[in-house]
Amino acid sequence: MKAAVIYQNGDLDCVTVDDIPAPKPAPDEVVLEVKAAALNHLDIWVRRGRPGHELSFPHPLGSDATGVVAEVGRDVHTVKPGDEVVVNPGLSCDTCEFCRRGDQSECLHFGIIGLSSPGTFAERAAVPAVNVQPKPAYLTIEEAAALPLAHLTAWRMLMSRARFVPGESVLIHGIGGGVALAALQLAKLGHGEVIVTSSSEDKLDRARELGADYTINYITDPAVGQAVRDLTKGRGVDIVIDTTGAETWDINFASIRRGGRIVHCGVTTGAEASVNIGALYWNHINVMGSTMGSEEDFRQLLAAASEAELRPVIDSVLPLDQARQAMGRMEEGEQFGKIVLVTDAEAPLSSLTAAEEENPLRL
Ligand SMILES: [Zn+2]
Repeated sequence: MKAAVIYQNGDLDCVTVDDIPAPKPAPDEVVLEVKAAALNHLDIWVRRGRPGHELSFPHPLGSDATGVVAEVGRDVHTVKPGDEVVVNPGLSCDTCEFCRRGDQSECLHFGIIGLSSPGTFAERAAVPAVNVQPKPAYLTIEEAAALPLAHLTAWRMLMSRARFVPGESVLIHGIGGGVALAALQLAKLGHGEVIVTSSSEDKLDRARELGADYTINYITDPAVGQAVRDLTKGRGVDIVIDTTGAETWDINFASIRRGGRIVHCGVTTGAEASVNIGALYWNHINVMGSTMGSEEDFRQLLAAASEAELRPVIDSVLPLDQARQAMGRMEEGEQFGKIVLVTDAEAPLSSLTAAEEENPLRL
């Protein structure tokens, strides 16, 4: 089968599309005929190499996917060949204390498809049967592939960790990335008041079209914390959703209200920061980390998204053969929304047109 693989860790030119053996399902797995698979920043981290994650080469990249069940393992009774499904990329042991209490993304042995196991940028992919859910019928295959990782991550950050209450104010950095856009969509579903930041006027314009209430260009208006205070009449926002890391750490403390919640899920701008502990406790500030989401988070996300017919924002759709170009676009930060690879090169044009017509979202 065709797959976008790496034979070693390294730069973008490590990514190559090659023929590799198709996987067979383990007893508790299904093998998907992958239709579409979305890119995530995780793919860049995996390509470069992650301490503690030894890959078996050739390693297909990719965590998100939608497809049709082609084969099932002998112990699988929940899905059958022919079912259209989406994949929850989180891998958990199902037996540890945290899995048993339903917090699978806090599993002692937590992993992610594409990082801890062969990925989905391939014509076929083997995943645990517990990780597949029916594809929401209202989504195109590209949209369905774009939904899981980014929206699941945003759902857990906003709903399960920050415990967002309808109408609250939310600051979201770096609008254009998948998780940031998903957080904007989910906050607007709950009638939140959303402030977004970017260095790109074009991205800020598009965020306004998606419902962002206020935008801050951090190049022309570098005092972001003060700008947030001004927009909130000195109060500060209830919640900060930070997918970026160290560069926005101080801005978050300057922007948050007393008792507010700051949730982090990424370190693309750095992993080290220092904090004024006095300001932290005196202002009752909650700083939280979050990764992916639980099975219950995924169920809630799919239910809420389906009810609202929420559509992920698609930046571009490329054939699997152009996996390297797709990763290059993401690495340059050029994208607004998800970049999606499709295995059927004939499919993208018609589907892309449909996606463009049906985005903007009904919020
Ligand atoms: Zn576990």
